[in-house]
Amino acid sequence: MAERDLVSEIRKVDGKGYRSYRDLKGSYVLEDWTLFIDHVQGDTFAAPSRMRLRIPQKEARFPEWTYSSRIREIALRDLIARRFWEAGRMRARGGMGTGGSGKISIPRPGQEILERSSVVINNKFIEVRFTAGLPAQARRIEGDSAIELLTEHLPTIVRESMLFDSYKEKRIQQHIWCAEDAHALRSKLEPMGLVAFIADGSILPRKSGVDQWPLSNAVPFRSPLSLRVKVDLPNVGRVTGMGIPKGLTLIVGGGYHGKSTLLEAIKHGVYDHMPGDGRELVVTVEDAVKVRSEDGRRVEKVDISPFIGNLPGGLSTNDFSTDNASGSTSQAANIMEALEVGTSLLLIDEDSSASNFMTRDRRMQMLVSKDNEPIKPFVDRIGPMMESQGCSCVLVVGGSGEFLDIADTVIMLSSYVASEVTKVAKDVAATFPSDRESEAEEPFSSSYSRVPLSKSLDPSRGGKDVKVSAREVDILTFGKEDLDLSSLEQLVDLSQTRTLADAMVLAWQMMDDETSMAELSAKVTDRIKEKSLDCLGDVNGERAGFRSHELIGAINRLRSLVVYQKDRST
Ligand code: ADP
Ligand code: MG
Repeated sequence: MAERDLVSEIRKVDGKGYRSYRDLKGSYVLEDWTLFIDHVQGDTFAAPSRMRLRIPQKEARFPEWTYSSRIREIALRDLIARRFWEAGRMRARGGMGTGGSGKISIPRPGQEILERSSVVINNKFIEVRFTAGLPAQARRIEGDSAIELLTEHLPTIVRESMLFDSYKEKRIQQHIWCAEDAHALRSKLEPMGLVAFIADGSILPRKSGVDQWPLSNAVPFRSPLSLRVKVDLPNVGRVTGMGIPKGLTLIVGGGYHGKSTLLEAIKHGVYDHMPGDGRELVVTVEDAVKVRSEDGRRVEKVDISPFIGNLPGGLSTNDFSTDNASGSTSQAANIMEALEVGTSLLLIDEDSSASNFMTRDRRMQMLVSKDNEPIKPFVDRIGPMMESQGCSCVLVVGGSGEFLDIADTVIMLSSYVASEVTKVAKDVAATFPSDRESEAEEPFSSSYSRVPLSKSLDPSRGGKDVKVSAREVDILTFGKEDLDLSSLEQLVDLSQTRTLADAMVLAWQMMDDETSMAELSAKVTDRIKEKSLDCLGDVNGERAGFRSHELIGAINRLRSLVVYQKDRST
């Protein structure tokens, strides 16, 4: 196609009806760059138009070291995305007509450094995928505004965010070093026999439930001496902090003393955080899963028998299905599903657990006989579970001392200050022995894998159109179904949820009615690793990296899901 001039093409449609904007689809030379107009919106209130801007590396001039490893590349792209978002907000916030006219944007990055499809970089070029609200008054194209938006505001945004020279080199280094150190730290956990590390000086609490910035004037974290470890990192050098060893760790302490805040920080430690977050050096093994009770959720043929036996009415728990799980059965299913994908660390907070799932005291054991209680309390199952699955557990408890006997490490929080009280806890347990009887001594075993049936995942319901989307971080629309993902607490970014929606479609396409859930998640994540997030459909800037736990977590919650159980031994 002959090269077209953007300004004269816009002039041609000036004053016409909105649909004429469609004529702009195509590529243009803008300054020394290339602008691709990939998709044009239907009107100013519709989702904005999708565009890409590509700058040759000989002009952008990001030195090779800034993207020479995968971690560096992800961190650099993340930083550029932040800058672009910010510049877009300053320079093109809309107001050029009705609806979204005149707004240039990409998804707003949160605190986590994630792979983001909004920016890609290689040794030939750097490209940003953004959206722009093409300006109109009512339905009449505002040509002059469109020219201003794309030939003045856009280049300004680009110059402020996409050229190496627009950054202080230190700023780039800081972002990259930060991600690199967090990765290095995470890779040292296993050899040190740890499952998590919280650096001294970290700021754990957040501003509020809706603001993930660090709380001002918070008490910085300080490791108890007995748990303090030293680690040498490639960029910041030596750091000290609290190492949480493998095994069962309890976090105890009075209400409002910071227990849940510590667990939350550990839960988010599967991600790298941006400089200034306060949790830059709070890291956790990458397959850690936070589980909770989630009554009302759908469960499809999960073997919850390690935790729940003979249900009323002879309902089987080897292949337990329900459209409306109870607190305890949902928590059992959540744990079994996490183990099915594979996890080396479970994170559980008493606050968000079913209390009857966790333990049963002596009096209740006397009142309700064991034959009438399907639940095998977690306190009796956690030991066999950790042993047979090779996983560790960090458990927040404030109300029940029943876990003291079996804990390997006990951390107490008192006015946000951590101390290790393992020995005291053991003394207490010895002085005041529990009067409850252990209720389930059998080994912890589950010999099934689950195979999802592709028909049950078809988001098109046999039609041609596949409709999936995400409006909020915890609401995913898959075909006709709205999935509530609020219990997947490690889903942190709307872009992740959007990506999950697309990844579920890919999973569906890869299903052959023989591949197990765990194999399927590996297949999908391998494909993305190999081909990048762009392999999930239209090239756009809306995607972000995610974990297989959240992918399978979303699939497991589909109301339509049908699986069959395969005996693992065959
Ligand atoms: P718990 O689970 O022990 O009841 P939380 O972790 O929910 O307590 O913390 C209670 C409150 O204290 C929260 O509002 C939290 O933001 C705040 N908080 C937690 N840690 C700190 C800290 N290190 N410094 C200041 N405030 C904190
Ligand atoms: Mg709490």
